[in-house]
Amino acid sequence: MSDTWVDGNGLAGALRELFAVDITTARGTCVGCGTVGPVAGARVYTRAPGVVARCPGCGGVLFRLVRGPDRAWLDLRGVTCLEIQVPDSG
Ligand SMILES: [Zn+2]
Repeated sequence: MSDTWVDGNGLAGALRELFAVDITTARGTCVGCGTVGPVAGARVYTRAPGVVARCPGCGGVLFRLVRGPDRAWLDLRGVTCLEIQVPDSG
């Protein structure tokens, strides 16, 4: 960690509001370099109008989250796939 970013666990509260599961354990694939890892492994920058999560491998933007008074905008364009564990439905 550094003084300008925290790890992906810093997204837990903001994303828990949007997703019914803890999304920080989901595994994402970076568009830029193909690194696969948990959302918790991202570098999260919070000194912005929203939060920006960057790839620990290449520094590319994985996603951006902006929260307004009654809605949120989630830009996932830096992630090719997000693998989310869910309870067994069987
Ligand atoms: Zn990357």
